Amino acid sequence: MSALGRYIFSAGPVMLPRPVRDRIRDDLVDWRGTGFSVLELSQWDDALLAMFDKVEADLRELLDVPDDYAVLFLHGGASNQFAMVPMNLLCGRRHVDYLHTGLWSGKAVHDARAPSMGEPRLDERAAYLHYTPVETVHGVQFDHVPDSGGTTLVADISSALFSVDLDVRRFGLVYASAQKNLGVVGMTLVIVHRDLIGHADPRTPTTFDYAVHERTRSRFTTPPIFPWYVAGLMLDWVREQGGAAVACAASRRNAELLYAAIDGSGLFTAPVEFGSRASASVPFHLTDTRLTGRFIAEAEAAGLHGLRGHPALGGLRACLYLGMPEAGVQALTGFLKEFEARHG
Ligand code: PMP
Repeated sequence: MSALGRYIFSAGPVMLPRPVRDRIRDDLVDWRGTGFSVLELSQWDDALLAMFDKVEADLRELLDVPDDYAVLFLHGGASNQFAMVPMNLLCGRRHVDYLHTGLWSGKAVHDARAPSMGEPRLDERAAYLHYTPVETVHGVQFDHVPDSGGTTLVADISSALFSVDLDVRRFGLVYASAQKNLGVVGMTLVIVHRDLIGHADPRTPTTFDYAVHERTRSRFTTPPIFPWYVAGLMLDWVREQGGAAVACAASRRNAELLYAAIDGSGLFTAPVEFGSRASASVPFHLTDTRLTGRFIAEAEAAGLHGLRGHPALGGLRACLYLGMPEAGVQALTGFLKEFEARHG
């Protein structure tokens, strides 16, 4: 059990690794002996500027991001990128391809006003192909990087960052909201090949143009200082665990542990087929759905929070991001068994 013996399985914001949470607590009072909270410093403070640089350098190292990619730390949610990607990457073209595999890729389709499709039939006129390697709501995950036939590949890696090993070099652009595996809400990471920057639609408002953020090093507007700082702590933590590949393997192990418990049970069942199961998000439900409310109430009483499924799907869901220790998953699998013994 964690220090608190309580675990949150929600999809974001999520549990932080305990050392990260403790460090934030201290830095909120006195950041690096400055006598000021990390929340009180100006974005022009030298120590903060050095911190921003370090976070970028750490991210480049951990994700192996080459110099010909810009790394941007932008305000707002991943949803903002549903609009910024077409504003910046269409380059006068009128066609894009989107793989529609679940709720979040569907929202990206909507903002780009692109038709969705079932079987991938790629349009050779497309400016880019967008997909979502891990669909958080549906709990599905690609086991390969789709072949875009040479077209620029764009990915929403909000749930894939540090849960799926991805080689940035295969993408023109990836983006991820921070409140899952990169810390806390309020920032979205964008990693974009520099060749794709500087071609925004002329009607693009300044603050939505990647070129502006590249030029100002993500400080065109007062930057999201706090989530940027927390991202640095998360990256330190990932490095201490052994790096990105180790983080992904831990995530996979946790999901397998949970799936084994669900598959082995007569009372719980998982809708996602074996080859498409995501590590970061495990949807499941009770075979007797009348027990769902009772399950959630009893789980909360046992210290297991955030298990209610996304409103679009109902049922149950356990998200397993970096801050979820194996002990949390064991607590959940133990609870599933116990609940089944009482109600099965
Ligand atoms: N894409 C994916 C895959 C997500 O899981 C989410 C949020 N859960 C989003 C986009 C939207 O992120 P935000 O709330 O930061 O806009």
